[in-house]
Amino acid sequence: MRIQEIIQEFIPCEVCGNSDIDNFYFHVFAHWGSEPYVKCCECEEEYYSKSAKEALLRIERERKEKRLSGQMLSLTR
Ligand SMILES: [Zn+2]
Repeated sequence: MRIQEIIQEFIPCEVCGNSDIDNFYFHVFAHWGSEPYVKCCECEEEYYSKSAKEALLRIERERKEKRLSGQMLSLTR
């Protein structure tokens, strides 16, 4: 899953109706327990999504698995 697919969950903006994906930004507040938010740049409203967090965890897991299999490959050489 790509970041844009996560952002699409928040479109259109509930406050101003902005539906331009280029006007949304994705960011993670690490000090709030790594909760994922997107921010609408038209009205500066921020949205949180539980499914966005699940998607993020899935991406993390995939990255770790890729890194592990890469290490295994380099060990066999
Ligand atoms: Zn907005």
